[in-house]
Amino acid sequence: MTTTRFAPSPTGYIHVGNLRTALMNYLIARKAGGSFILRIDDTDPERSKEEYVDAIKQDLEWLGLTWDRIERQSDRLDRYVAAADELRSIGRFYEAFETPTELDLKRKKQLNMGKPPVYDRAALALSEDEKSALRAERGDGVWRFKLDHERIEWKDGVLGDISIDASSVSDPVLIRGDGQFLYTLASVVDDTEMGVSHVVRGSDHVTNTATQIQIIKALGGTVPEFAHHSLLTGPQGEALSKRLGTLALRDLREAGVQPMALLSLMARLGSSDPVEVRNEMAELIDGFDINRFGAAPTKFDVEDLYPLTARYLQSLSLEDVKPHIDALGVPADKQEAFWALTKENITTLKDLAGWWELCCEGAEPLIAEEDAEFIAEAMALLPEGPYDETSWKSWTTAVKEATGRKGKGLFMPLRKAVTGRERGPDMSALLALMSVVKARG
Ligand code: GLU
Repeated sequence: MTTTRFAPSPTGYIHVGNLRTALMNYLIARKAGGSFILRIDDTDPERSKEEYVDAIKQDLEWLGLTWDRIERQSDRLDRYVAAADELRSIGRFYEAFETPTELDLKRKKQLNMGKPPVYDRAALALSEDEKSALRAERGDGVWRFKLDHERIEWKDGVLGDISIDASSVSDPVLIRGDGQFLYTLASVVDDTEMGVSHVVRGSDHVTNTATQIQIIKALGGTVPEFAHHSLLTGPQGEALSKRLGTLALRDLREAGVQPMALLSLMARLGSSDPVEVRNEMAELIDGFDINRFGAAPTKFDVEDLYPLTARYLQSLSLEDVKPHIDALGVPADKQEAFWALTKENITTLKDLAGWWELCCEGAEPLIAEEDAEFIAEAMALLPEGPYDETSWKSWTTAVKEATGRKGKGLFMPLRKAVTGRERGPDMSALLALMSVVKARG
């Protein structure tokens, strides 16, 4: 059975970069009729916060990325203890006592000699007495996994054939000096015990994958299929890491971005398939293929989400948006007309408020100096409301006759005077919904 997981650390709000990982894992599970796990990677008690766990759930719910099961690493510490014991018993785990400064010095020396900065395994040579002495002096050491120095190979769903020389990688620390289990071990134990069959994550995890493959094998687990998607960059190819904080999903939601616009973009961006707005998650699931994604960094421009949101909204019926229109206080008998005329003229649903305000209260007229006289004359010909679908036609006909203006020179200044804007919906329909037209010239 296909099982995937999204494994955020609850140390902040999730952003578009995390969403890409979540979505790909979700789509793979759903396409295969499998299972999607939300795994909270909270082994770091200082940095993990409950408010972020709640926020992650809310953000995924907003997008409709429903999970079949939720797991928390902090509930599973006994499993990691057992795995650590197992690694010790098979001679693949050793305690090391170097301080961060000592490690740093070693690295600098290696780099100076033109060597890769790989941990030299000095701790393997320590006798039991030496270890006891170091423990007494420095406290418990860290626990490192002893890699087999061979090539680690896998066929990556995005990157293709990967081969990494284990001797170019430091033996990973799996338990810190204070006893805290690190993600590298916890993740392997969880993936194995939860039957995770496919792991999609960012390409910053490639080296982790190499070491995790050896840990999985050492613990007798089955190696899942791995795929590492490229990292997102800004529109000019600039690193996005510093800006990701401003691209939190909750900020996009707040800005009016529609879930399906965001999902439609993120499910295809960086693949050989075109980005098209979809209305149903099922369409995204059907057309998804991780193998169609490229390894090159993927450019992401947050501005692209707005035309996609607008296009999505245009496809909706009144029924789909009724709660928003109700909330504005649009009377039931005017809702159909209001939505029909605004849907093509909004970027997000937030723009509806401005159009309804125009209908109820009119707008400050926008009058070019050279049109001032013309508008004064035209306004004198505008009857008091209420208006209906014929009001615009009869008014503009009267204005045309009185002033001799026609075409754009007639209609544009009138539109600007009535709505205070240069663009907008069909004026006959709009005027019919307006209760007042402000400032008569
Ligand atoms: N908690 C890890 C992270 O957020 C999970 C990585 C993984 O998918 O294995 O980077």
